[in-house]
This record gives sequence, C-alpha cells and structure tokens, in this order.
Amino acid sequence: MTKAHAIAWAFFIFNGFSMATFAKIQAMKNLTDTLQHFLFEDKFNNAMPIRGNLVYLNDTYHQVLQHQTLPPVLKHALGELMAASALLSATLKMDGAMVLQIQSKGALKLLVVECNSDLNIRATAKWDETQTSRIAETNFIDLVRNGQFVITLDPKEGEAYQGIVPIEGETIAEMLQNYMLRSQQIDTSLWLTCDDTSACGMLLQKLPDIGGTAALNKKVIDQDLDAWNRMNYLANTVTADELQNLPAEILLSRLFAEENVRLFEPKPTQFYCSCNQTSVASMLRMLGEEELNSILAELGKIEVNCDFCNKHYLFDAVDTAALLATEASVNISTAKH
Ligand SMILES: [Zn+2]
Repeated sequence: MTKAHAIAWAFFIFNGFSMATFAKIQAMKNLTDTLQHFLFEDKFNNAMPIRGNLVYLNDTYHQVLQHQTLPPVLKHALGELMAASALLSATLKMDGAMVLQIQSKGALKLLVVECNSDLNIRATAKWDETQTSRIAETNFIDLVRNGQFVITLDPKEGEAYQGIVPIEGETIAEMLQNYMLRSQQIDTSLWLTCDDTSACGMLLQKLPDIGGTAALNKKVIDQDLDAWNRMNYLANTVTADELQNLPAEILLSRLFAEENVRLFEPKPTQFYCSCNQTSVASMLRMLGEEELNSILAELGKIEVNCDFCNKHYLFDAVDTAALLATEASVNISTAKH
C-alpha cells in the first residue's frame, strides 16, 4: 500500500467525519487544475484491463470564461465538454490535439473544445446572440437536438482523423459514451459536472483488447469477468459534490472501498491558446488574394479576432502583401522540388 493509499484508507476508516477530519479533507482539497490517471489491480497487484481518469478544472475553466459572456446553460455545457476533452485525450497515446465539437443549426451554433497532449485547453461557443435570452431558458439537450458531434484527432505527425456522428443521448457524458462505443468500439463511462466554480469529471474505460500485457493476466480476467460492471456500478454512486470537492485519493477510496486502486501523479491542466500571427496569416492566405484585396479596398485593413482568447490581429496593406508574397515563395520552393 502506498503512502497515499494509507492516508486515503485512514480517512475512509474514520469516515465519521469529525470536524478535524473534515477540516483536513478541506485542506487536502486539490485546488490546482489537474488530471489524474488511476487503474485497478487484483489482489496480486496485477493490473485489471480497466483504467480511469479524474479531472478537476478551476483556473482553466475560468480563463476560458473570461473571453466570452456565456448564458449559464452554455457555460456549464462548455465546462463539461472541457472536462471530457481532458479525460478522453489523456487516454490517447497520440502527440497532438483532440477537438470536440457540438454543432447545431438552431440558436446554438457551436461548442468547441481543444485539448492537446500537454493538457493545454481552449474552448469557445457560438450562438445566435439575438436569441440569448431564449437560450438561457432552454435545456441544453433541446438546443442541440438534430445536431452532430464531431471529434477530430490532429496528431503533430501524420494524418488528422475526424469522426462525425448524430447526437445521441440526453447529456454530454451520454453523447460521448455513445460515440466511443459506436464509432470506436471502446466501452467508456463518463461522469461530468460543472457549475459556476469548476468543471470536473471521471472516466472509466475498458482497455480495447485483451492483448499485450493484459494477456498475461488472462487468468485473472477469467476470474473477474464482472469487474467492468462492478466498477461501473460503484462509480455510478458518485455525486457532483464529491467530484467537485474531494481530492482524488478520498474520492476513489470512497467509491471503490473494496478494490485496489493505483492512483498516479497528478498532471497539470491549463488554458492555452495556440493562435499567433503566423497561424492567422495562414488562415487568411486560404481566403485568396482576391478576397483579401477586396477587404483591404473596402476597410483599409484586415482585422481578425481569435474566438478562443480574444486576441486581436491587424493586417494592413503592407502586411497583406507580405503574407501573400510568403505564399508565392512557398509555392515556388514547392515547385522546384
Ligand atoms: Zn487565440
């Protein structure tokens, strides 16, 4: 038993919650933004083919909200999607970014969250601002009916992958669970919660195949076929309050009291927007010379605002000529080879 487990167990045993214990739990509360991996082990300390992640977003969430004034329903949905993006991208071995988008044709147009392998997260929402008060009175699920879920994996090296599915489910957690099962054939369970303070969540995932290391433990799996159902049953007792207020050690020892859980070191998450002058110039180049020149003729300058961080980019006639010249030189150098 590790020291962390021992402490967690001590709290669990003295679960009478004396004021002293309660004060200690509050003091232990993880106020920094983190993601933590955990996995289950059998009584011989062999890993079971089930892994988990916990995420707690506070600063990351608030920094995203600083750039937009969102109706509460969108604020909380975006927070849940942020928590989900960290939980899911932490299950990938890929070095790159995962983008989760909920697209709809009604008053809500788009929720988008990007999380990369360093747990840098950015997010934004687009909606019909003439309908802000109506959105504020509508359930999230009613805003996204007939919409679609788009998941993009954009590795630093290699081809990007995009999966588009109709929205199925009543909550963001259900939508993602359905997506993971239908499109990726991976059993995944998610618990997400978000209020004005924080966005938090937990993930359980059945490892995709019983190959590799897990094959060595086949005997163990044969003896514990019910492990996936049992862990889900136990995890389903989690409350929003527990996800938001308990440190990982305490939460896991409460939920999985009879199980061996190995908890790994927390990894920090943070808000980070990757936009810069070069990426904006590339985006403008895609509009083409004719379009850029017509904007310049009309407005005398080209202004671009980043939806994720609100950073403002300004291109005058000289800057625009330079960015188009860069394109020309890129084309020439490509042509030479
Ligand atoms: Zn930005």
